[in-house]
Amino acid sequence: MEPRIRIGIGHDTHRLVGGRPLILGGVRIEQDHGLSGHSDADVVLHAVTDALLGAAGLGDIGDAFPDTDPRWRDADSSLFVRSAMERLDKLGFRPVNLDVIIFAEEPKLGPIKERMRGRLADLLGLPREAVNVKAKTGESVGHIGRKEAIACQAVVLIARREPGDSHTANKP
Ligand code: MG
Repeated sequence: MEPRIRIGIGHDTHRLVGGRPLILGGVRIEQDHGLSGHSDADVVLHAVTDALLGAAGLGDIGDAFPDTDPRWRDADSSLFVRSAMERLDKLGFRPVNLDVIIFAEEPKLGPIKERMRGRLADLLGLPREAVNVKAKTGESVGHIGRKEAIACQAVVLIARREPGDSHTANKP
C-alpha cells in the first residue's frame, strides 16, 4: 500500500535591489529595497510552492511557471501556491503542516512573522498552529549577511485525503 504521508522541501534565493517592493510570505513590507525577479519575487511563497510540488512528486516551480512566460511578470506569487495546491488536490493530497525559515539580515522580521503565518495558513487551508515561520540573520557574513539577498527554506508534510476530510484552501 502506498504511504499516506509524504514530505517536500523548498529553497529559494532572490537578490535585494533598490526600487522594488519587499514582499515576503504574501506580506508587503514598507522599505526602500525589495527582491528582484520575474514575478513579485516573494522568496517565501516560491520556497513553499517548491515544497508542495516536491512532496507530490510534481517537479519544481521553474517547470510549472517558467520565468520566460510573460504571464508571470510581476505576478502575485500566491498564484503559484494556489496552483500547486490545486495540483495536489487533484492527486488527493492535502497539506498537514508547514515549517519555514527566512534568511534575511534586514528587516527585522519578528514583528511580521505572525502576519506571514496567517497568510500562509490561509493559502494552504491550514489552521495557524500547523504553520511555523522562523527568521534568521546572516550574522553579517555571506550574501545574506551583506544584505545582497534574502533566502528561504520550507518543509511541508502532505497526506492523502481521507473520506470526510475538508479541503478549505482558498481558490483563486
Ligand atoms: Mg524564486
